[in-house]
Amino acid sequence: MFLAQEIIRKKRDGFSLSEEEIRFFINAVRDNTVSEGQIAALAMAIYFRDMTMKERIALTLAVRDSGTVLDWKKLNLPGPIVDKHSTGGVGDVTSLILGPMVAACGGYVPMISGRGLGHTGGTLDKLESILGFDIFPDEQRFRDIIRDVGVAIIGQTSSLAPADKRFYATRDITATVDSIPLITASILGKKLAEGLDALVMDVKVGSGAFMPTYEQSEQLAESIVAVANGAGCKTTALLTDMNQVLASSAGNALEVREAVQFLTGEYRNSRLFEVTMALSAEMLVSGKLAEDRDTAYRKLQAVLDNGQAAEIFGRMVAAQKGPVDFIENYDRYLPTASFSRPVFAEKRAIENNIKEQRIVTEMDTRALGMAVVALGGGRRKATDPINYSVGLSDIIALGSEVNADTPLMVIHANNEDDWHAAAEAVRASLVFQQAYTSAAQSDAGMKVATQMVYRHIGG
Ligand code: URA
Repeated sequence: MFLAQEIIRKKRDGFSLSEEEIRFFINAVRDNTVSEGQIAALAMAIYFRDMTMKERIALTLAVRDSGTVLDWKKLNLPGPIVDKHSTGGVGDVTSLILGPMVAACGGYVPMISGRGLGHTGGTLDKLESILGFDIFPDEQRFRDIIRDVGVAIIGQTSSLAPADKRFYATRDITATVDSIPLITASILGKKLAEGLDALVMDVKVGSGAFMPTYEQSEQLAESIVAVANGAGCKTTALLTDMNQVLASSAGNALEVREAVQFLTGEYRNSRLFEVTMALSAEMLVSGKLAEDRDTAYRKLQAVLDNGQAAEIFGRMVAAQKGPVDFIENYDRYLPTASFSRPVFAEKRAIENNIKEQRIVTEMDTRALGMAVVALGGGRRKATDPINYSVGLSDIIALGSEVNADTPLMVIHANNEDDWHAAAEAVRASLVFQQAYTSAAQSDAGMKVATQMVYRHIGG
C-alpha cells in the first residue's frame, strides 16, 4: 500500500518511481481516490523532474491497463492489427484515406479517433459530417466491422484508458500538458488499449503543429517510439511538415469530400499523397504485410489504382450507418455552406498597383485552423455545436506565384459577415515575397519544404 503524497514527494525530489508506485497512482486516478490537487502536484513534479524510459513505459502500461484492452485473438484474423496516430494538424485528413488503403492491403485498422482540439481538426467531427454516420457502434458491432471490412473509425469509449481522461483534464488546467513523458503515456495508453500489433506515429512539425519546435517534435517522436516498442508494440514515427495546410481544404465536410476524391483518383493533393503513402507504408512494413518500403508503396498504389481502397471506404461508411452509395454520390450527403466565395490578396496591393507576381512564402497554419473554428467548423469549448459545412477549400500552396487576381482560397461561410472576418484572417495568415528577380524567387522557394517527411524514427 502506498501513499499518494509520498509518491508525489519522491518525484518532486527527483527520484525514479517504481512500476508499483506508478500503477497505484494511476489506478487511484481512475478510482477517484486521489484528489485533483494530488494529480496536479504529480503532473507538475513530472513536468520538472522528467521520467526515465522505464518509468515512461510503466506509466503508459498503467494508463492502458486502467480500462479494457481490446483482444482480437478470438477473431483469428489473417492479418495484423495496425493503426496510426497523429499529433494533429490542419487539413490532415490522412486517417480517412490511410485506414481503407491499409485494410485493402490486408491490415486490420480499429481506429479510435478524437474530436477537434483547438486549431486542429478531429477525425470524428469529419465523419459526423456524413449523414447518418455512427461513431459509437457497440463493441460487438465494432469487432464485426473490423472482421468484415478491415477498418472502422470510432470514438473513444469510457472503458478505454479511463485514467487518462481524468489525468488529462487536470493537466489541461494546470499548465502540465506539454510534458513529453505525460504526452507519451497519454497518447500511447489509449492507442495500446486498441490491442495493436503495430503503430505509426505522425508527429507534425511547423506553424500548425502541436509541439512548438522541431526539437520538441523530435523528442516526442523518439519518446513514443522507444516507449511503444518497450511496451511490445512495433512502432515507428515520421516527422512531417505542418507549415501549411496538408490537404487543399480544411473544414469537416470539405475534407471528407477531398478524402473521397483522393481515394477515387478524382483529385489528389501531392502533399497529402506523400504523407499518406509514407505513413501507410510504415504500417505495412511494421505489420509484416510488405518486406520493405518499396514493396509497400507498390501495394498501396495498386489498391488506389484498382479502386479497392475507395470501395473499402464506402463499405466502412455503410457499415457505420452512413449512406450505401456515399462514394458515388458524396455531394448528395455532405452539407454545403450558404456563402462560398474566393478570397484574393489584400486590396491594398491592388490600390498600390502592384501588378508583379509574388510568391507565397509562409503560412500561419495555426491561424488558418483558428479561422475554421471561428467560421463554426470547430469548438472553443467541448459543448459547442459544429457547422460541418464551413471551412476553406482550394487553399493555395506555399511557393505559388500570385498576383492581385489570383484566388488565395475559397471561404465557405454561414453568412457574409463571417466570410469577411475569415477573409481578414486568411490574408493576415499568408506572407508574400515580391518576385522581381529570379534570385528572390529562389530564395523564397528555399523556405518551402520540398519534402513532406523530414525524418523516419525507428524501424
Ligand atoms: N493528445 C493526447 O491524447 N494527450 C496528450 O497529452 C496530448 C495530446
